Amino acid sequence: MTDTRHIKVLIIGSGPAGYTAGVYAARAMLEPVLIQGIEPGGQLTTTTEVENWPGDTEVQGPDLMIRMEAHARAMGCEIVGDIVTTLDLQNRPFTATCDSGAVYTADAIILCTGARAKWLGLPSEEKFKGFGVSACATCDGFFYRGQEIVVVGGGNTAVEEALFLTNFAAKVTLVHRRDELRAEKILQNRLFNHPKIETLWFHEVEEVYGADNPLGVEGVRVKHTQTGALTEIAAKGVFVAIGHAPATELVKDQLETHNGGYVKVTAGTTKTEIPGVFAAGDLTDHVYRQAVTSAGMGCMAALDAEKYIAEMEDAGAVAAAE
Ligand code: NAP
Repeated sequence: MTDTRHIKVLIIGSGPAGYTAGVYAARAMLEPVLIQGIEPGGQLTTTTEVENWPGDTEVQGPDLMIRMEAHARAMGCEIVGDIVTTLDLQNRPFTATCDSGAVYTADAIILCTGARAKWLGLPSEEKFKGFGVSACATCDGFFYRGQEIVVVGGGNTAVEEALFLTNFAAKVTLVHRRDELRAEKILQNRLFNHPKIETLWFHEVEEVYGADNPLGVEGVRVKHTQTGALTEIAAKGVFVAIGHAPATELVKDQLETHNGGYVKVTAGTTKTEIPGVFAAGDLTDHVYRQAVTSAGMGCMAALDAEKYIAEMEDAGAVAAAE
């Protein structure tokens, strides 16, 4: 038998946006339920040191997320380890069906499904995924003790991964398609001053090559973006860190997106085009994409949802009195 439950506010996703929405919605006595999704804690669970979360000079990403979850729970947010597989935003109340078979109907939805790592899209990258190609240094760096590693990308993620991987690797080569990094200056300084890291400018990965039996990476073939010259770099591990794409599968064809797939909200709010549906964090933010801005948007979404529900209840009370 399907277990259907009606709640006022359903929060989908468990990064900084989701947990902050949980704290605020619970304190507004909305009795929110938060469905954690496939990666409880979100992207910060795959990082190490976080140095820009206010109040903590340095905190480990996974620890920060454990604390956020405990905080939301302590305020009265119900946290469920499940995955929303389908979401109906066209009918009211909104309906979310979970992997476990549980079904929730809700008056308001706060979407905080975040973003996930992008890949280069090469057939050879696909072939060696899990066999030398990875998008998570904290998960897989340990396997490359004493080896040579390539990191692809020029943003904060690539630089942080390159620095982290020096804990294991003999040498790390950062391959970037331009001659300028997007990463914060403090991270760039650490990268340029690190004796184990070499930076290869103006290069793109053409192919990951390696052995078939057993399957394993032996290097990458890179192409100079201006001259077209091809070079090979020997490496046992290739870490792809070229950015993130918003996780919009649940709302595909239901909500308007822009700027490459990010859910569109009314400027200065978290309101989507469907009244009662709010979006916060990396799902909607193509500009800032920080833990602290996501948390801020989670707060805004809970306040927007609180106002929406109050107006809905007032309208219901007026209709009942007439
Ligand atoms: P990002 O800032 O979007 O950087 C992606 C990098 O990958 C860029 O340098 C880009 O090159 C390169 N790239 C993109 N597609 C490529 C392709 N097909 N082939 C080769 N290179 C490609 O992504 P991110 O580093 O994952 O960071 C995402 C957001 O999270 C940012 O706002 C970042 O500040 C934030 N973040 C913050 C922290 C922190 O504060 N500690 C840590 C991690 C991430 P171009 O530069 O040429 O475009």
